[in-house]
Amino acid sequence: MSRSVVTRFSPSPTGFLHIGGARTALFNWLYAKHTGGKMLLRIEDTDRERSTEESVHTILDGLVWLGLEWDGHAISQRNRMKRHREIAEELVTLGKAYYCYASSKELAEMREKARYEGRPPRYDGRWRDRSPVEAPTGIPPVIRIKSPRNGESVVYDKVQGEVRFPNKDLDDFIILRSDNTPTYMLAVVVDDHDMEITHIIRGDDHLTNAARQTIIYNAMGWDIPIMVHIPLIHGPDGAKLSKRHGALSIQAYRDMGYLPIALRNYLVRLGWSHGDDEIISMQKMIEWFDIVDINKGAARFDFKKLEAINSQYIRASDDEILLENAIAILPEIEIGKKIATPLNEKHCRQFRDAIPALKKRVKTLVELLEGADFIFANRPLSFDEKAIAILDEKGCQILGEVLPMLKACPNWTETELNDAIRAYSKAKKSKLGQIAQPLRAALTGRSTSLGIFDILTVLGREESLARIHDQLT
Ligand code: GLU
Repeated sequence: MSRSVVTRFSPSPTGFLHIGGARTALFNWLYAKHTGGKMLLRIEDTDRERSTEESVHTILDGLVWLGLEWDGHAISQRNRMKRHREIAEELVTLGKAYYCYASSKELAEMREKARYEGRPPRYDGRWRDRSPVEAPTGIPPVIRIKSPRNGESVVYDKVQGEVRFPNKDLDDFIILRSDNTPTYMLAVVVDDHDMEITHIIRGDDHLTNAARQTIIYNAMGWDIPIMVHIPLIHGPDGAKLSKRHGALSIQAYRDMGYLPIALRNYLVRLGWSHGDDEIISMQKMIEWFDIVDINKGAARFDFKKLEAINSQYIRASDDEILLENAIAILPEIEIGKKIATPLNEKHCRQFRDAIPALKKRVKTLVELLEGADFIFANRPLSFDEKAIAILDEKGCQILGEVLPMLKACPNWTETELNDAIRAYSKAKKSKLGQIAQPLRAALTGRSTSLGIFDILTVLGREESLARIHDQLT
């Protein structure tokens, strides 16, 4: 019987969880769910200089927000360094690795010589076959793996196919540094083995590493997990993803007003497809996601597509979910700086009431909040230029005439307000729009917004009448 699937996401905590990392996590998570297996999380924090607690926190927070929870506890690679050293020493005992005492001066000379001869800089193996008795005293050695000298190392990759690397390019790389800390190459192999990882799904920038890691697996006689190197995400112009293209943290996407469910849907389509399906529910994603459908070519990141997917999810989402997600980002965004947060109960209720109308016209939660800013505004309102122009003598005259008709609406229902305003427009032989314009300007401070009846009912009788009245004094 074959083993059940165990995947892993193994970020280095040297920065935030970026969009590429999130997609890698998503693929690992989906494959684990698809097969009824597990996704483990390993924090690759052996680089003490560059790893930070803050980064660990940001990465975990990003995964949780995206709904990609891992199985079991997150594993810290740093806590496993004793084990890494043990394996390095075992490899020496097995004759598969050796102590190397080459000084930094010697290494610099080796590099210089290679450059002069037009070869890539490679360690020349000078300690490979020397007897340990020749070891100089007082110099802490590194441990190097004995890479095969001739032939090729082959990575059998589920996406890239059979990828061959000439062994002469791989040299005897270091697996344990002179301070006894493991290199990435050793730590990752030992941990993947001990964690019983069956599938390594990661970016194809790790493909050469896979060849080096294969050498360590073979030296230990360990089974090599199934390799799945996914093409990187590029910008819409085909160039490497830059900040301008969207190489931002997951938190930045949250603060731009994307829903986690929309971002997940967008990300799964970056490098994987299921026919022409664009909107794919979580359940379908899990059902359909398979490695064989991962594309070989680089995926292109496209903000427009992400926005289009987001707006579809916003329309389809429950109002309560939108409310919750929108309120959560308020402190992080521009409009949140202008209003009192946390929102009071009245503002929350009014915002919730406005969501059914607002969600039909926005692409992001930021736009949803901006569309609701008339709710959060305090009297006297501030007005934009167009609203000021609308509220001229003529506009104010209309307001003065409509006000008593609105005051005569005790129930403030949409039907009642509609009847009142239509009766007025009929009497005056003017179009509804001519009346709606000054009303909208007085109630929101702007010239565009939701439909006038939505505004009136969301604001409520007292606040609406007061805002109109403000224009007449
Ligand atoms: N820690 C590596 C990174 O963040 C990933 C290593 C791996 O997946 O093997 O790029």
